[in-house]
Amino acid sequence: MIAEPIKTGSHAWPFVCTNCGRHAPAGRLVYHCPTCGGVFDLDAPIRYAPSAPGSGRNGLDRFRSSFPLAEDTRWITLGEGGTPLIPSPVDDRLVHFKCEHLNPTGSFKDRGASVLVSALAAAGVRQAVEDSSGNAGAAFAAYAARAGIRATVYIPDGASPRKRAQMAAYGAEVVRLLGPRSKVAEAVRREADAGGCYASHIWLPYGLAGFATVAFELVEQLGEAPGAVLLPAGHGTLLLGLARGFAAMQEAGAIDRIPKTIAAQAAACAPLWAAHQAGGQAVGWVQEGETRAEGIRILQPLRGDAVLKAVEASRGTIVAVDEPTIVRGEAELARRGFFIEPTSAVVWGALEASLRSLPDPVVAILTGSGLKSEPSSG
Ligand SMILES: [Zn+2]
Repeated sequence: MIAEPIKTGSHAWPFVCTNCGRHAPAGRLVYHCPTCGGVFDLDAPIRYAPSAPGSGRNGLDRFRSSFPLAEDTRWITLGEGGTPLIPSPVDDRLVHFKCEHLNPTGSFKDRGASVLVSALAAAGVRQAVEDSSGNAGAAFAAYAARAGIRATVYIPDGASPRKRAQMAAYGAEVVRLLGPRSKVAEAVRREADAGGCYASHIWLPYGLAGFATVAFELVEQLGEAPGAVLLPAGHGTLLLGLARGFAAMQEAGAIDRIPKTIAAQAAACAPLWAAHQAGGQAVGWVQEGETRAEGIRILQPLRGDAVLKAVEASRGTIVAVDEPTIVRGEAELARRGFFIEPTSAVVWGALEASLRSLPDPVVAILTGSGLKSEPSSG
């Protein structure tokens, strides 16, 4: 199905293997290092390089020079980024909610998809495969449609029907596979190894550049670095992108401290939390249990070691949030005007667990819209 040859000429990909240090080969896109199987990272640090005021650029478009793309790359955009930061009281504190659920397809994934699909289109890719539990697939399908790239998205059978419908509406071929999210990832890697273009939002590091812009916007909106940022973490790509973004701003002299990062996982599937509890040691057994937070039900976070390091370097922590707290979080956030998906509601658990000890200003990132998830009973 995806074995059609991909003509990408001599296109050079700006990736380096995190294991053996080799650059990605030019030409056909490969999702991991062909020499050692290692994970790629960007081959240069992300820079904080906003366009000049008055340039007429908005959202992510303002940061085009920050991305690992040639200056003349056609920008594949749907107006992503530039999301509101809305303060709301929680107990006796003021928390600033970053409304990433208001992006064009309803989640923060649009920031990564815009950079990734712009790069694919520039390389002449005409069709590509992705796997996702929902939001990343919807973002990929939308931006691929915009770029004229034929998209196939593999999803677990239990993915939200509304997210599935959203992907199909954009014109993607949606392939449902039985079993949990990890089985879907294995299946799509087998397909990719057979010669297709696996445009993985997890394996390919383009998304990290897109997510760094959340950090840029937070500092610009607050007028200072946040004291702490709370966010959901599955693979932790948003967390890593934020860390890169804050590092870039510190390098540019725009901030003088790195915010504490508080990552929230669902207790039903919490490998990062477990490893953090064990002092960063590898953990032998973690369950991939059922949870309403389907978007972060990730058994083996691909860049888990880097996520743990980033949390520790920020003097932050990782919390595990149980299902009743997720449901309570959905309700508490909705009563503040934020209609978010259950995955995003884990930040409520993180607020309950840690808000008292966090320095101002506190930011909680609302990652995905409630419009495309199933309502809670009750
Ligand atoms: Zn390698």
